[in-house]
Amino acid sequence: MKLPKETKRYCPKCRKHTTHKVGTAKQKARGATRPLSRGSTMRAKARGVRSGSGSHGKWGSKPAVAKWKRKTKTTKRIAIEYKCNECKKVHQISKAIRAGRIEIGEKVAK
Ligand SMILES: [Zn+2]
Repeated sequence: MKLPKETKRYCPKCRKHTTHKVGTAKQKARGATRPLSRGSTMRAKARGVRSGSGSHGKWGSKPAVAKWKRKTKTTKRIAIEYKCNECKKVHQISKAIRAGRIEIGEKVAK
């Protein structure tokens, strides 16, 4: 995936469109430090999704391992960061992108 070095984006702190430097970061993991992160069971429970009877499509038991487990993945989830040139604050996109590699300008991040 190719990205430009700099883009114009809305900065919530400056409350206007400013030039942002594009960078990459690893996707934050679902863990004990961030129990209410996206896709976590705690967050789903707080929403009232994972309660009552039935599997609700996602939360039920899985079939035999060979039926759903695939080979190892060849791509990684990469989060894209935007750093505001005026206030130097970093904003991340809300959902990380799955890509083999990301090219920013000429720099390549894997
Ligand atoms: Zn800003």
